[in-house]
Amino acid sequence: MTKKKDLVHCFDCNQICCRTTVVEVEAPKSTRDYSDLLFYLYHCDTELVIAKNGKKKEWYVEFMSPCKFLVEGRCAIYEHRPLVCREYDMDSCERNRAKSFTYIRSPEEFFDYLEKKGPGKMYRKLRKTHLPPGGYPFRGPSTAANAVRTRVNRSEC
Ligand code: SF4
Ligand code: SF4
Repeated sequence: MTKKKDLVHCFDCNQICCRTTVVEVEAPKSTRDYSDLLFYLYHCDTELVIAKNGKKKEWYVEFMSPCKFLVEGRCAIYEHRPLVCREYDMDSCERNRAKSFTYIRSPEEFFDYLEKKGPGKMYRKLRKTHLPPGGYPFRGPSTAANAVRTRVNRSEC
């Protein structure tokens, strides 16, 4: 468990939780699951996040879509914010719960991940059935996703 003194503080994290919408998904098992994850990655400003805590892995789809009410780093409707925001705090948030994160920001990175981490059978199957001959028609840059985390200017997806 993360010690209190090791927590990432909200002021130091660029309000990731207000700048993205994160949906937890089941760890992929079937071809359909993996195909769905690729589908998410075909969309702009979307990434996969694998949070690892010991042996446990949690999979998330993260949409880089900031909340309209985040104004100058603060919630403009704080007293009336949704319950999900009220329940979320830095003691239990994604940033402070997991020991390590893997970010997958493009279909190419997803194939790289599968090639290295497996399952090898799924990697080979998806290459055959989902990767166009000669690769994807253009390389999907991940700069838009990075912009949220690193404060660089957003660029075209
Ligand atoms: S709750 Fe967590 S993710 Fe949200 S701003 Fe605070 S430290 Fe960052
Ligand atoms: S409503 Fe407020 S606390 Fe909730 S995501 Fe938007 S800015 Fe953040």
